[in-house]
Amino acid sequence: MELELDNDQHLFWETSRKFIESSCPLATVRQLYDDPDGFDRGWWRQVAELGWTSMLVPEEHGGGTVSGNGLLDLVLVAEEMGRWVSPGPFLPTNVVAATVARSGSAEQKKDLLGAVVAGELTAAWCFDEPGTRWGPAGVGLTARGDGGDFVLAGIKSPVEAAAQADRLLVTARTGEGLGQFLVPADAPGVRVTPLRSLDFCRRFATVSFEDVRVPESAVVGAPGGAAGDVEIQIQLAAALQCAETVGAVDRVFEFTTQYAFDRFSFGRPLASYQALKHRFADMKTWLEACHATATSAARGVQEGADDAGDLASVAKSYVGERSVDIIQDCVQMHGGIGVTWEHDIHLYLRRATVNRETYGTPADHRERLASLLGM
Ligand SMILES: Cc1cc2nc3c(=O)[nH]c(=O)nc-3n(C[C@H](O)[C@H](O)[C@H](O)COP(=O)(O)OP(=O)(O)OC[C@H]3O[C@@H](n4cnc5c(N)ncnc54)[C@H](O)[C@@H]3O)c2cc1C
Repeated sequence: MELELDNDQHLFWETSRKFIESSCPLATVRQLYDDPDGFDRGWWRQVAELGWTSMLVPEEHGGGTVSGNGLLDLVLVAEEMGRWVSPGPFLPTNVVAATVARSGSAEQKKDLLGAVVAGELTAAWCFDEPGTRWGPAGVGLTARGDGGDFVLAGIKSPVEAAAQADRLLVTARTGEGLGQFLVPADAPGVRVTPLRSLDFCRRFATVSFEDVRVPESAVVGAPGGAAGDVEIQIQLAAALQCAETVGAVDRVFEFTTQYAFDRFSFGRPLASYQALKHRFADMKTWLEACHATATSAARGVQEGADDAGDLASVAKSYVGERSVDIIQDCVQMHGGIGVTWEHDIHLYLRRATVNRETYGTPADHRERLASLLGM
């Protein structure tokens, strides 16, 4: 992330980077392939101690930022997680914590925030639904008022880290507009069906809500008044995910250029061939544009800028598409070894491909951009 860091941010970034490198190298990531959770809960408590779950939570609830700009601190972590294809429910837990911190009741804050900050509780953001329309307009899960309670009915899919989560934040359509509900993952009527993921250690699931009854105290914010929160969730998810993807592409580009200097073909390094230099130049240009759009999105969302939604969708559509193109080209640059199981590049390609498809595809975000611009 090309942000100017102050001393505290630099220390935070360096500590986070060293911790991932030593505690979760790619050999460990490969071992998580067969792990049903895809992450180690003891490790998650350690990352929480470093502050990875605290930055979007206010100090009175045990959180706190490094620089006073929690999202800008958090994207430093996200980028390092991308560089090491790290596991863990980082994005959904932070997005849910930010929402509860912003709009939750005192009781919800007490229930969730301290435990999230301590790494003892994780959360899933149940927003996407199967169907052709992504985004708020595509929310079809209903919340029907019934004698002071609400009854949730519908399906959310794909939901990141749903099978591992303790709490579910569910976006629903009420008679008055969008509403959000905080539901215990083991509530009667909640059925979680794990999906197969291309990513090595990121887990997704389909969550069915079969007439799940929740009390009024489960409503986050005003019933029917969640549109503002949902918009901020979309922006946060885009900013965090784009930073992570950029970190992944940066790392792949780094080891691919190194390979081109090390690998000799017809007595010369691959990097000396003009045809390959042109491809590297294209990739570098796209990579810098990925950095620029991701950084603008993070800054815009952090500042609550008027065009934060536009910036988030520009980054999400550009980074989503280009990241996969660049990594695919880097596979080609590696020749035969790029397509082997043993080489690490497929771990990155898997992560970037899944990121492209989740929290809105590039096409979804281009469509959203058009509507935000009034087209
Ligand atoms: C698992 C596996 C199975 C395989 N099975 C077969 C098989 O059944 N039959 C078979 O014939 N081969 C097989 N191969 C070998 C494969 O065809 C070669 O890997 C392939 O020819 C590429 O060579 P390389 O990997 O040495 O790539 P490199 O020579 O290292 O090339 C890397 C990149 O640089 C490019 N490049 C290289 N030199 C130049 C240049 N002068 N100008 C411009 N671009 C250049 C290449 O196009 C490529 O994009 C296999 C390889 C693997 C890993």
